[in-house]
Amino acid sequence: MAHVKLHIPGPVEVSEKTFRAFCSPMIGHRGQGFKDLYAKIQPQLQRLLDTRQLVFISTSSAWGVMEGAIRNLVAKKVLNCMCGAFSDKWYDVSKRCGKEAEPLQVPWGSPIRAEAVDRKLATGQYDALTVIHNETSTGVMSPIEEIASLKAKYPEVMFIVDSVSAMSAVPLHFDALGIDVLLAGTQKAFALPPGTAIFVCSPAALAKAATARDRGYYFDFVEFQKNAEQNMTPSTPSIGHVFALSSKLDDIFAEGLEARYARHRKTNQMVRDWAARHGFNLFPDPGFESLTLTCVNNGAKPGGRTVDVPKLQKLVKDQGFLIDGGYGKIKGTTFRISNMGDETEESMQPLLAALDAAMKQL
Ligand SMILES: *Cc1c(COP(=O)(O)O)cnc(C)c1O
Repeated sequence: MAHVKLHIPGPVEVSEKTFRAFCSPMIGHRGQGFKDLYAKIQPQLQRLLDTRQLVFISTSSAWGVMEGAIRNLVAKKVLNCMCGAFSDKWYDVSKRCGKEAEPLQVPWGSPIRAEAVDRKLATGQYDALTVIHNETSTGVMSPIEEIASLKAKYPEVMFIVDSVSAMSAVPLHFDALGIDVLLAGTQKAFALPPGTAIFVCSPAALAKAATARDRGYYFDFVEFQKNAEQNMTPSTPSIGHVFALSSKLDDIFAEGLEARYARHRKTNQMVRDWAARHGFNLFPDPGFESLTLTCVNNGAKPGGRTVDVPKLQKLVKDQGFLIDGGYGKIKGTTFRISNMGDETEESMQPLLAALDAAMKQL
């Protein structure tokens, strides 16, 4: 079957080079070869996230670490900042972990703002909060620096941040942000296959985790720290992913971080321009649009053009590209196009041409 190129917001297209690395001959995860591999990657990850903390590799999808953060760090009550399908779900997951949890819900399409978070934290009820940097379901990027700046006012509160669909595509300075957990899955902006997550914890988060009695084993942050100090993971990792990550980090630093961020801004602007050219507007509140994907308004909000999304998807798929038809309650009234990962101005052109051709038939 002919391959349909992925322009959905995860998983995204994986390069031949990455696949070759992924398929490296297997090594033992307690042997020197693996330790050398992790030791080579560690400073690259630290540079990427601008941190002196050890960066952890978890064989799980992002949700494993998202749930793990709740189990390691919530003793009293967690504030779940909610602005779309993934951030809303985190509230549900907190409750499923048996934790006291409260939503801070804003309408889908709007970002989380520091002022609203501040009002909630001022009640003194919470010892943790969750926030999603780039809410993939709505294409909204919340102002993470603004939210993180509250940490200084509430040092006891654990700030848990999901940057699943933005990490490596936009600058993230973990230590300067002062937050406690930052995590991502590999199948989004890293453009690796799904199945591994990357995360980093503050010293305060690790200290707090050590006091959590029901944190379990598989996602025990203290175990991750102990093992990372020896260039290992707590349990057998997906070693193929670690090879692939090593290859990708080499790519990232060969390109240069600034060039990588600029490339994502540019390819994202190309999609926004395409939408505008066809009379669409975007779903996110102006000024809070994601830089890694575009969530096009197709009737979810007033204004702009609407089309038959399943038909658009089919017309584009027939030309070899997969786009997303909207997520959760905005399925069909929005559609999403990803520019994250390895996409370049050149590689975006055929997709946009296919979308143009499809629009002529709608
Ligand atoms: C994709 C995504 C997730 C879920 O990741 P999994 O790897 O499927 O567990 C969580 N948060 C955001 C923002 C995402 O985009």
